[in-house]
Amino acid sequence: MIDLHTHSLASDGTDTPGELINKAHASGITVLGLMDHDTVAGWDEATMYLRPGMSLVLGSEISCQTLDGTSVHMLGMLFDRDNSALSEVLATTRDNRLTRMNRIIARLNEAGYEISIEDVLAQLAPGATLGRPHLADALIAKKLVASRDEAFAELLHNNSKYYISHYSPTPEDAIKLIKQAGGVAVIAHPLASLRGRTINIESFKSMVEAGLDGIEISHRDQSEDERELLREVVARYGIIATGSSDYHGNGKLNELAEFTTKPEDFEALETRADARRVVRK
Ligand code: AMP
Ligand code: ZN
Ligand code: FE
Ligand code: FE
Repeated sequence: MIDLHTHSLASDGTDTPGELINKAHASGITVLGLMDHDTVAGWDEATMYLRPGMSLVLGSEISCQTLDGTSVHMLGMLFDRDNSALSEVLATTRDNRLTRMNRIIARLNEAGYEISIEDVLAQLAPGATLGRPHLADALIAKKLVASRDEAFAELLHNNSKYYISHYSPTPEDAIKLIKQAGGVAVIAHPLASLRGRTINIESFKSMVEAGLDGIEISHRDQSEDERELLREVVARYGIIATGSSDYHGNGKLNELAEFTTKPEDFEALETRADARRVVRK
């Protein structure tokens, strides 16, 4: 089984990279993608704990924003971590996430929620990418909400009055950076409309021109109608379809391998990278 999109404590998942490898192994996953938000911080530990017979696809889920302000997540897989242009953009995004968190907290404080940046940073593993799920965890610790899900539903969702975005590249720029770093670019859950505003079908053209390699179609946040639209886009442009769990440990309901990628689709993706970078043991 091939699950190309999971998260660890290096961002907003709740398993260490080593625990994630062990759970993936126990679930029968043979190819695992580690896609922590805007970072490569979990790569070394995941590589260290990799089990014989398993393949590891190292990457990152890169936060992007279109020029009209729509949030997009771009999976960059199998890129060269030493590429400076890409690492600098990821570092800028991570820095900006701290400024943005302070601004969200200021809005919550004004509305009477007593929460501080220290409370939020206490929820973060060392070196991890800061995100709204850590703010959710801080609100849970203060008994202001019961779960991450409730925190997002009531306070932290993209259309909330407390919501603030952070610096992010455009999807096209992120694709170009990933490709220049030798990797492959797969747009994550592009039509997951429950999460807020999504891109329209016309915008795939410029992303394909920028080098988009694939679309994550099978994902719990996309309906069957949305998947059907995406299958048409994949066929129209001759790109690759993937499916994945977007597992976050116990921070979300998503179970490992609840959706998977077909072996032939994974092979096609792998050959689009400029070097053999899948880690095998
Ligand atoms: P941020 O990266 O700070 O913009 O936060 C977005 C992240 O929050 C997403 O990538 C998800 O991992 C997570 N998220 C979104 N909605 C929920 C939810 N309802 N429950 C738990 N986590 C969520
Ligand atoms: Zn996440
Ligand atoms: Fe995402
Ligand atoms: Fe994700």
